[in-house]
Amino acid sequence: MSRSLSIFGATGSVGEQTLDLVRRNRADWNVVALTANSNVAALADAAREFAAEVAVVADERYLDNLRDALAGSGIEAAAGRSALCEAAARPVDMTVAAIVGCAGLGPVMAAIEQGGTIALANKEALVSAGEVMTAAVDRHGATLLPVDSEHNAIFQCLQGGELAEVRSITLTASGGPLRLVEDLSAVTPEQAIAHPNWDMGAKISVDSATMFNKGLELIEAHHLFPVGLDRIRIVVHPQSVIHSMVEYRDGSTLAQLGPSDMRVPIASCLAWPARMDTPMAPLDLPAIGEMSFFAPDEVRFPATRLAREAAQAGGAAPAVLNAANEIAVAAFLDRKIPFSRIALLVEDVLNQGDLPRPPQTLEDVLRVDEDARTLAMRMLEPA
Ligand code: NDP
Repeated sequence: MSRSLSIFGATGSVGEQTLDLVRRNRADWNVVALTANSNVAALADAAREFAAEVAVVADERYLDNLRDALAGSGIEAAAGRSALCEAAARPVDMTVAAIVGCAGLGPVMAAIEQGGTIALANKEALVSAGEVMTAAVDRHGATLLPVDSEHNAIFQCLQGGELAEVRSITLTASGGPLRLVEDLSAVTPEQAIAHPNWDMGAKISVDSATMFNKGLELIEAHHLFPVGLDRIRIVVHPQSVIHSMVEYRDGSTLAQLGPSDMRVPIASCLAWPARMDTPMAPLDLPAIGEMSFFAPDEVRFPATRLAREAAQAGGAAPAVLNAANEIAVAAFLDRKIPFSRIALLVEDVLNQGDLPRPPQTLEDVLRVDEDARTLAMRMLEPA
């Protein structure tokens, strides 16, 4: 029997790789909603190919284009933030949350309120909402399956024991394309997004270069696997073969290995709790040859320190960190600030005055996010 599926951020890197897996197992899936921000052509093509019920663009200016592109198909066209949330509230067996940034939070929360199963790639949503999201998951009996390769690896390693018996969790980090680059002040967006191991969207690629990706992942892991922040470690592993590890109290460490291809963790979520075929070549360890491991350099790349401090502070701090980082990355990609300013701006925003009160509701989180963005943008204005 086929299972129903919606993909939020269907035109992005994770969204397209999800569709690739669905295409290979077409009879298994019935596609309900597909969404994009503004890429009408790709969205309409996917909606037609997969006979979606509804296609949504977040940016309302593209609604007419979407209607034109879907004319005669019988597929509903919709636009705007509330349309995204309405689409996420349509009951499905699996929701893939692959929007980039805190913009994806509303649809994730709407899917959680349906008590659904959510394959979560959109780490910024969980980082920003934190306990507001995990409490909603518990309240509505929803299931969060981590798509992020590290968290998916940990999730798989945790099948081997109880959370209470975990001594530590180790998140691996490739170190990004700039690990060995001496002068970080002159780095261009092209250099920063040229990731050595993974082919990803622009924002997460910059996050990998600054190590904010690992910082966000630290906070994500803290919410998904509550073993205590001090038990979650980061190790740089440039080959990206081991995707993360769990050490148990008896001294056994379980690791998950695989190719640097997001279709592996996506497939693990789509088929969960079973397994499905993917087009991956078998793991060839002799061809890989060697694996190496290093401690992160938090002097050159302060992002993981900032994220750990924000997680320790709790409350609104992770949402502020995330919002400031989103603004800084966009400004860097627009060539308005140098690479080295990204972490400085995030730190400045975090240190500016008192933190807002801990958010209790989705609206609180969105307000903290909006205010932190405004502050970050103000700080970027020339004096
Ligand atoms: P992309 O930039 O490739 O795609 C983002 C998707 O979100 C697109 O469909 C885009 O639409 C849509 N989108 C962008 N802005 C908005 C908005 N304001 N409102 C609604 N939709 C929007 O991102 P990735 O696929 O790389 O990443 C998606 C998420 O998954 C991120 O949170 C990332 O951290 C996480 N992730 C990604 C990995 C990867 O390998 N790419 C690995 C692990 C996690 P449009 O095409 O119209 O712009």
